[in-house]
Amino acid sequence: MRAPLLALVAGLSCGSLTDPALPENAQLLIPPPDYAGWWAMVESCSGLSGSLESVQWYSTTSLLRNPNETDETVAGYWSLASNRIVLYANDTIAGAVVRHEMLHALIRAAGHPRSAFLQACGGVVLCGEACVRDAGPPASPAPGTPTIAPSELEVTSAVSPAAPTSGLHGGLATFTISVHNRFLHPVVVSLPSGSGSVPYSYGYAMHDGSGVGISKGDLALDIGVTYFAAGETKRDVIDFFVIAPDFPSYQGGPGIGENPIALPVGTYSFQGDYGGKAAPNLSVVLSQ
Ligand SMILES: [Zn+2]
Repeated sequence: MRAPLLALVAGLSCGSLTDPALPENAQLLIPPPDYAGWWAMVESCSGLSGSLESVQWYSTTSLLRNPNETDETVAGYWSLASNRIVLYANDTIAGAVVRHEMLHALIRAAGHPRSAFLQACGGVVLCGEACVRDAGPPASPAPGTPTIAPSELEVTSAVSPAAPTSGLHGGLATFTISVHNRFLHPVVVSLPSGSGSVPYSYGYAMHDGSGVGISKGDLALDIGVTYFAAGETKRDVIDFFVIAPDFPSYQGGPGIGENPIALPVGTYSFQGDYGGKAAPNLSVVLSQ
């Protein structure tokens, strides 16, 4: 009867049954209303269901380090023992970061399997360089898979909620670009090369009538973003924030991440593209 007990004690000491120590100033975080919608998005893309209420949330103003790789600073981490997510205070309503941690809680694993982070929920959750590295390279396309130009794909976009306001859910909303391979066979898409060595995949711009606004693009950090299965649809979810007219800063509020998209109320043209193939423009009214 000795051996099983020793094994249990060893399990405790190697950390899988205990959470990493919380940063000293960590505070319990009451999930903001937006979390329910984000949780539903991650349940839907992953095909998994779970209880948002069972996740224990904390935020901290200290720089967070990845508990598994001591040197890397991270926006958040999930740990198994208490189903706990700790977020850097600047990222508590940064949608793609929060959804990344939610996906850990749903798959109940700290790693980044490609099937979850880059395939099923690719574009819905953030997966930066470290995540892509951890996921490992995708399987190479079968020999003879045709290479096509982005212009041969179907690109569409949508805003949710359809009429974003600064009052609803703290002004948070999403712009989703969808890319559909209408062929009945897999394809590899040749993205135009950008200025650097890594091409852009998705591009997006939101401008009001006077041309004020932003334009940005996502780098194709994962080559898998150019591999489409027969009939596959990939997407990219871009979070943005509607600023009330009396808001003190165009940079948005605390918690919306490193490079927030914060737009004053007005009527905008939303443009999305994949490798230069544009979705039809959307006219979007952002109101108070
Ligand atoms: Zn992660």
